[in-house]
Amino acid sequence: MPRSVLSRCARLTQQVPLESARSTKHGVHRGMSSVTIPPPACMLRPLEAPFRYLFGPGPSNVPPRVLAAGGRPIIGHMHSEMFGIMNDIKKGIQYAFQTSNNMTLAMSGSGHTAMECAVFNIVEPGESVLVAINGIWGERVAEIAERMAFYILQALAKHKPVLFFLTHGESSSGLVHPVDGVGDICHKYNCLLLVDSVASLGAAPLLMDQQNIDILYTGSQKALNAPPGTAPISFSERACHKMFNRKTKPVSYLLDMTHLSNYWGNDGKPQRIYHHTGPVSGFFALRESLAILAETGLENSWKHHTEVAEYLWKGLEDLGLKLFIKDKDLRLPSVTTIAIPEGYNWKELLAYIMKHHQIEFTGGLGPSVGMVLRIGLMGYNCNKANAAMALAALEDALKQCRKSKA
Ligand code: PMP
Repeated sequence: MPRSVLSRCARLTQQVPLESARSTKHGVHRGMSSVTIPPPACMLRPLEAPFRYLFGPGPSNVPPRVLAAGGRPIIGHMHSEMFGIMNDIKKGIQYAFQTSNNMTLAMSGSGHTAMECAVFNIVEPGESVLVAINGIWGERVAEIAERMAFYILQALAKHKPVLFFLTHGESSSGLVHPVDGVGDICHKYNCLLLVDSVASLGAAPLLMDQQNIDILYTGSQKALNAPPGTAPISFSERACHKMFNRKTKPVSYLLDMTHLSNYWGNDGKPQRIYHHTGPVSGFFALRESLAILAETGLENSWKHHTEVAEYLWKGLEDLGLKLFIKDKDLRLPSVTTIAIPEGYNWKELLAYIMKHHQIEFTGGLGPSVGMVLRIGLMGYNCNKANAAMALAALEDALKQCRKSKA
């Protein structure tokens, strides 16, 4: 717009301030409000967010230290101090993932954002993706896991996908899927291995570089105990080669790794250019949760989750309950699935436990709805006292919720 027009607009604005405007076709009158929708009554009441024991599959409770980090004064998303914090986050993720990948960052968004980022950036139109659905198969799970390598091999040869997706910690079924050897098979067929560790990171062993994983992502709100809303992700050299040599642009601008790699200082360019406004408080909290994991040590964290899970599993069996995943080695330590006890209404059990114990457990997800109850003890929530509390609440609910006639 020419400068003369701009300054004329400024003069006009000075001459006709909004309050003194006469009648217009939008009904703006002197002394009358132009808003037709009043402030909602709920907004005039203070925020209410009760305390809950979040013993479901996530989010889990956030320790005061992480909450405090998230509550620190905001700084600009492009300030040098913020870039320093993002560099720390990158190092924290490299440790948590056990990777030296340069292309490591945190997405501004939940686990799904990282999932979409991986797929959008790697896959081009016409290319195929192979997905392992390891949701729920009850007693057959162990056998399926054993046979998996064979199935993967067959499918890779047949479909020639560019990407193979595997969930490490399948939170709907409570299964931890073996990853050893899968990356090698994928690479033999020129396919990249994408692994979801949203429900397992920090709770079950996973070694990105040693296990030849090309893209790994997780969420902030599970064993990391940060608030929901940020999602660590890392790409191998092989994955970078594929995504930075595409013929077409990824469908999402927000998730385009050419921009995100610059925003995170991973592209080697001297300047970071504004792409989007990252969740500053979320990154503060994520940094703190990664710091706790680094202080605890990954191996200690894995061991601790297994010990508490084993204590919980024994307590559940002592209550006469059946664990959904029979093979102990395939059970996810962070999220335990319990077969719904015969004759009980699972919704009633959950509602009773929430009402009388302020504890959240959940039912199944997708295909496991109506089949399982899920108890998650992750990170900060993962200790024997909480497991005992969960068991006592469940025991009480089993006594109090009458068996249905069905
Ligand atoms: N993958 C797994 C294994 C999960 O458990 C979840 C969350 N329940 C997601 C992905 C999606 O993460 P988010 O809800 O943070 O988008």
